[in-house]
Amino acid sequence: MPKVAIVGAGVVGATIAYELSGLPGLTIDLFDAQAPAQGATGAALGILMAVISQKTKGRGWRLREQSLQRYRTLLPELEAATGKTIPGDRQGLVKILLEEDWSRWQQLQTVRRSQGYPLELWTRAEVEQKLSGWSLDYEAMAGAIYSPWDWQIQPQALTQSLIEAAQQRGVRCHFQQTVHSLPPATVSKHCQSLPTSQDDFPVDYVIVTAGLGSDPLVGTANGKNPLLQLQPVIGQAFLLQFADAYNPLHHSPWRSVLTTEDIHLVPLANGQFWLGATVEFPADCPSGEPNTELREKLWQQAIAYYPFLERAEIINYWSGKRPRPVGESAPVIRPLDGYDNVLLATGHHRNGVLLAPGTAQEVKTWLKAKLT
Ligand SMILES: Cc1cc2nc3c(=O)[nH]c(=O)nc-3n(C[C@H](O)[C@H](O)[C@H](O)COP(=O)(O)OP(=O)(O)OC[C@H]3O[C@@H](n4cnc5c(N)ncnc54)[C@H](O)[C@@H]3O)c2cc1C
Repeated sequence: MPKVAIVGAGVVGATIAYELSGLPGLTIDLFDAQAPAQGATGAALGILMAVISQKTKGRGWRLREQSLQRYRTLLPELEAATGKTIPGDRQGLVKILLEEDWSRWQQLQTVRRSQGYPLELWTRAEVEQKLSGWSLDYEAMAGAIYSPWDWQIQPQALTQSLIEAAQQRGVRCHFQQTVHSLPPATVSKHCQSLPTSQDDFPVDYVIVTAGLGSDPLVGTANGKNPLLQLQPVIGQAFLLQFADAYNPLHHSPWRSVLTTEDIHLVPLANGQFWLGATVEFPADCPSGEPNTELREKLWQQAIAYYPFLERAEIINYWSGKRPRPVGESAPVIRPLDGYDNVLLATGHHRNGVLLAPGTAQEVKTWLKAKLT
């Protein structure tokens, strides 16, 4: 039986493990240096912005469309297999528009209509009527765009369910087991085993989904040029709590993710909301630590867009590091130079939760071609 090893049990590795476990005749092993979903996935807000993104063709749209279609079937499939609901928001997303010029959104609406995905453009008066009770700054906005196909899913719960369902289908998990650098490519171009913190693990195929751990794993060509370069882009986010009297969901029949100029507000249960996220490049955080000024700026900006947040209590904040490719576009899904049996599926930067199912589809296609 061909042996497939997947390195990294974030949302991307877990989705790939689950999807490959549906192929007959494979042995699949999933490795992680920690417990699952502790990397970028553990910090993510889980917003799936596909239809509302301005990507309308090419690979960017193909991955998004594959993902949003697959999520429709994947979530019920996982919930049936595990008996656990995956929390999230499946009513769509509302993006508040501040600019008066709507032409690019009207164009997007036309394209999406032809692709079969509705988008609704709301005037300011319509926002005020539909989102009454949210106490938004209606005067400051031009209107909004509502995208029923763009969901939100809690990334850690999703990853846990993927792993549980993959294990039911025979995937073996090796957590708290670090994979060390791949052996250098030889003339045979074949990686025959993975060096791990416990032993050398024999493999036929390797999928590298280790997020920011991916580039140290794959090393350099001839000891010089890196075969992959990723940079951390820090994101900080808040957990907020509303008392019952101030919870906008108690004053409005409308419940969905709200987004304004890249500041996202995600309704959770029991009066709680997530708010995020900053986008901090290495120059913004020379020490490698999250930038407190940018976190404060995010909070002030959020209050300006969503004045009712002044009544919320900040009960926690956290940060994570998004894996951003340098010198190529996100995500990186390609065979690793010098090897005939190693595939990179990493560098998802800001969209790993969104693009995980589409990525898994591409990995499946690559593997099937190898197996025939
Ligand atoms: C604040 C914030 C908000 C975000 N919001 C969203 C959002 O709303 N929607 C969205 O789509 N994306 C969002 N993202 C981006 C998303 O989190 C990432 O794109 C995604 O989690 C990447 O998943 P991954 O599985 O590739 O990597 P990771 O989740 O980082 O997983 C990689 C795994 O590999 C393991 N690993 C690393 N090296 C090794 C090794 N040598 N051996 C064994 N295991 C190893 C790590 O332990 C880790 O578990 C957000 C990110 C942040 C920080």
